[in-house]
This record gives sequence, structure tokens and C-alpha cells, in this order.
Amino acid sequence: MKQVNETIAALGTTIFTVMSALSVEHQAINLGQGFPDEDGPEDVRAAAARAVLDGPNQYPPMTGLPALRQAVADHGRRFHGLEVDWQSQVLITSGATEALTASLLALLRPGDEVVLIEPVYDSYLPIVRLAGATARMVRLRPPEWSLPEAELRAAFGPRTKLLVINSPMNPTGKVFSTAELALIAELLEEHDVYALCDEVYEHLVFSGHGHIPLMTLPGMAERTLRVGSAGKTFSLTGWKVGYLTGAPALIDAVAKAHQFITFTTPPSLQAGVAHGLRKDDEYFAGLAAAMARKRDRLSAGLAEVGFAVLPSEGTYFVTADFRGLWDQGDDFAFARMLVAGARVGCVPVGAFYPADPPTHLVRFCFCKRDEVLDEAIARMKAFF
Ligand code: PMP
Ligand code: GLN
Repeated sequence: MKQVNETIAALGTTIFTVMSALSVEHQAINLGQGFPDEDGPEDVRAAAARAVLDGPNQYPPMTGLPALRQAVADHGRRFHGLEVDWQSQVLITSGATEALTASLLALLRPGDEVVLIEPVYDSYLPIVRLAGATARMVRLRPPEWSLPEAELRAAFGPRTKLLVINSPMNPTGKVFSTAELALIAELLEEHDVYALCDEVYEHLVFSGHGHIPLMTLPGMAERTLRVGSAGKTFSLTGWKVGYLTGAPALIDAVAKAHQFITFTTPPSLQAGVAHGLRKDDEYFAGLAAAMARKRDRLSAGLAEVGFAVLPSEGTYFVTADFRGLWDQGDDFAFARMLVAGARVGCVPVGAFYPADPPTHLVRFCFCKRDEVLDEAIARMKAFF
């Protein structure tokens, strides 16, 4: 028999699925895979339910429902001052995952180089490789996770086509600073490079300076694709509705990839998200405030258990150093031990590195009900 595609065949199952399965097996509290344990706003779900019943339930336009594309454009203007034309500069996808994959396939050619920042979200690198491109990794180091200027500069060269940035950043909880974004923008212009900006956690920001889309910096609008996800913004991760904004030529190219990946996204869910993106400012501020309280609750509890907890300025994740509690192995071993022993699931941060990972950090997800977070802490206190 002939070989299947070796890049795909060599992939493992994502760490999120692996840790969720272990959590089920051990009847653990799953603070591994990132998903809230309460569904998002009822009015958003009701809008989608109405759309299912009222129809039409046939193929919507390939680039997305006009009502949702308009809502995405208005949302970008309201929160970030972005001026985009909803008809030519917005594309709806089946989740941010599809938006990222379609963008990489649309932009990259064999031999291109892509700058990725470690720790790196697990879906980027396999698609970069599938497109025949090569990744140049730039590593952030704990506990500050600041962007190392010399290493970033050195990663750019004549073959560099694209940089991928995730801010707010999974798993670190880092929100890139204005100075870091300005450095990235300078290098993108100098080397004529595109940016793919994974901003799915744009509304889950707790730091004073807030989240700034790279796209808002001078000169960036024409070379940037910005990715959002209704899953994160409305606590509806199973819906898989994503949205991309960018220059017309870029959106046009990505739409051509999208048409042969999923073609369209369920119209009822698009209608629900269109409703959601028009919710008042209090909803979005309330979401961030609620998550900040959960971050504080879990971080304080983890510190009491004996973890060295790293700061988290955004996302719904906090990372923690377990070396004060356990020295019998690496982060993967710790995560397996914790889920079986304490019955609490987490994710090893080493899973976010293709090679030579740090081995002392795990990621906990805090978008859970307070009593669930408290029970997880109680289990770990009892266990250690
Ligand atoms: N990017 C990052 C950084 C994420 O954490 C996630 C989350 N799950 C995604 C992309 C994918 O989002 P979606 O569920 O909308 O595909
Ligand atoms: N992005 C989520 C996380 O980081 C998981 C999404 C997935 O399971 N693919 O936990």
C-alpha cells in the first residue's frame, strides 16, 4: 500500500483531548481542556434556536451571513476602532481553528518561512508543515514571557512570509505590550511579512493596558489577518463559529481555501453570534470581570496547595510551577499523576513546544463555577 500523508500520520492526538479523556476515566475535575462549565448568554442561544425553527437551514453565503459579517465589522469598530468593509474584509469560518488553517493554506507556499512564538498553540505548526513551509521558532521564557528582541530579529530573513501571534496568549496568559507589538510591526514592514493574529481571547483580558490588535498599528491593516472566536467570547465553544478580518486581497485568498475546507458554517449559529456581537458593553466587561475573579480564586488556591503560580493577564488559563510539590518527573508525568491521584485534570505546558520543552509547568483552566474550582483545590490540598 502507498503511504498516507506523513506529516498528518506523524501527528499525535491533541493534548486537550488526551487530558479530557483521562479526566473522564478518573472521574476528575477537568481543569485541562479550555471550556467553560456554564453555557453562554441565553439570548444568544435563543436567537440561534429561533433561526433553526424559522429557517432557512440551507447553505448560507460562502463568506458568511451578511448580518454576521456586518456585526463583526461593527464589533471591530466599537472595541478597537477598526474600519473594515463588511462585504470585502470579513469572512466567517467554522471556528478559529478553521480560520487559522484556511489562512495558512491560503498564504503559504513551499519554501516559505513562518515565525512562530513559543509556547505555541498546537494547531499552527502541523498546518505550516502541511503547506510545505518551515517554522522559525522564537521562544518566550517564564516567568515574564517577554519577547526577546534579538531572537525575534534573527528569525526574520528573505524567505520569511508570515508571523503568527496569539495575544492574549494561550497557555501563558500573556497580553503583548504596545512596545512588543511595535517591534513586531517594524519587522513586518522591514521584511514585507504578513501577520496572522489569533485574538480569540480578545475579551478575556484583565491587565491594565488591555488588548491591542496588531492590525490597529500604523501600516498593519494591509498585511494582517485578525481571527476571533464566538466560542470564547460567548462561552459557546461547541458552536465553532470563527471570524476573520483583513485586507480584501487577503480575505479573498482565504475564502478560496475556506470554500474547500467547510464551504459554510451553520446559519442558525451565525445568526446567534450576530445577535451576540451586538450585545451592550456591559456584557463584554462583565465577562472579563467574572473571569478575573475566577483567575484570582484559582491562583490563590493553587498557591495554598504549594504551586508557584505565574501571573495571567488574559485568556482563561493560569500556569503554575509544581516543583515545590513533586519531583518525580516532568510536566506530562505530573499531569498524569495529578489526574489519577488527586482527580484534577490539567495540561502540561510542554505540549506547546515542538522540541526541547520546559518540564516544570502545567496549565489550569479557570472558567469553571466557583464551587468546582474550590473542590479542585480541596482535592489537591488533601492529596499533597
Ligand atoms: N486559538 C487559540 C489560542 C485557542 O486557545 C483556541 C481554542 N480553543 C483556538 C484557537 C480555537 O478556537 P475555536 O474553538 O473557535 O476553533
Ligand atoms: N483551545 C482549547 C485549549 O487550549 C482547546 C481546544 C481544543 O481542544 N482543540 O484548551
